Amino acid sequence: MILDGKKIAAEIRGELRKQIEALRAEGKRAPKLAIVIVGNNPASETYVNNKLKACAEVGIEAVKIAYTADITEQTLLAEVHKLNDDPSIDGFIVQLPLPGHIRETTILSAIDYRKDVDGLTPANVGRTVQGLPSIVSATPRGIRELLARYNIQTEGKHVVVIGRSNIVGKPIAMLLMQRPYLSLPNMSAASLGDATVTICHSKTRDLAAICRTADIIIVAAGSPGLLTADMVKEGATIIDVGINRVDGKLVGDVDFENVSRVAAHITPVPGGVGPMTIVSLLQNTLQAYNEHSR
Ligand code: NAD
Repeated sequence: MILDGKKIAAEIRGELRKQIEALRAEGKRAPKLAIVIVGNNPASETYVNNKLKACAEVGIEAVKIAYTADITEQTLLAEVHKLNDDPSIDGFIVQLPLPGHIRETTILSAIDYRKDVDGLTPANVGRTVQGLPSIVSATPRGIRELLARYNIQTEGKHVVVIGRSNIVGKPIAMLLMQRPYLSLPNMSAASLGDATVTICHSKTRDLAAICRTADIIIVAAGSPGLLTADMVKEGATIIDVGINRVDGKLVGDVDFENVSRVAAHITPVPGGVGPMTIVSLLQNTLQAYNEHSR
């Protein structure tokens, strides 16, 4: 079965639109997101435009703040502080990657965790790890929501995560191994968390043997064709996070054609995790508005 992220994301956008309409009907202002973009990386431009479009669709007000690539770290930091202090902004993101002369960790660490709707600040990550109320980063939140909406349980399951990045591998591993007390708003009732998680990376020995023991495999490596059918147990669930361009075509990290014959559930690329990531940003923005709007 295909886990249709495009369809589920559209459903969630419909739910968000209704929730925001209800807020407006009570005379409240719309939630507001700011997106800071530096330079003119074409992929970043596309991502930002998709995010702006998605905001408009659900009634979230969104502003784009664009800087040229030669901006100093100090000026960007001043923008972050300005957004932190602006009561009309519920959440904001700084689109990554940033130019080489700007330290991403310095910028991300300066974002007020209550407005950190990308969930990438050390404060939010730390809170997530300790099971405190937090904003979960968009891709892991989207993966969790997709599993929940298809009623795929994780309790006691062996989940193998391939990739150990701060934005995908580490946080999704953390979320799925936790006790499910850390419930996200608007989640369905599926029991998520309580999994036994193995994190694999580029130095892992015998990846195939580890994968063959997995009930759920989450691949976020950025390596097309990495997960092949011989690495997958019959009936497993496969979440393909990878986005790669091969011969002008968008592909994931999974040999979809062959793996889909063995797996019980699988996400396509495009149309799987990607749309869920964008909708998670919208959910995070509404969460920040509900929890902290002044
Ligand atoms: P990254 O690019 O920072 O790192 C890749 C990780 O994969 C590393 O931890 C590395 O150790 C591991 N890895 C690479 N090759 C491997 C191999 N052959 N075997 C085992 N492990 C290997 O990770 P990222 O930023 O999480 O991105 C991963 C992929 O996910 C990229 O293709 C990226 O474009 C995509 N992505 C998609 C979304 C989405 O919304 N769909 C969001 C974020 C990232």
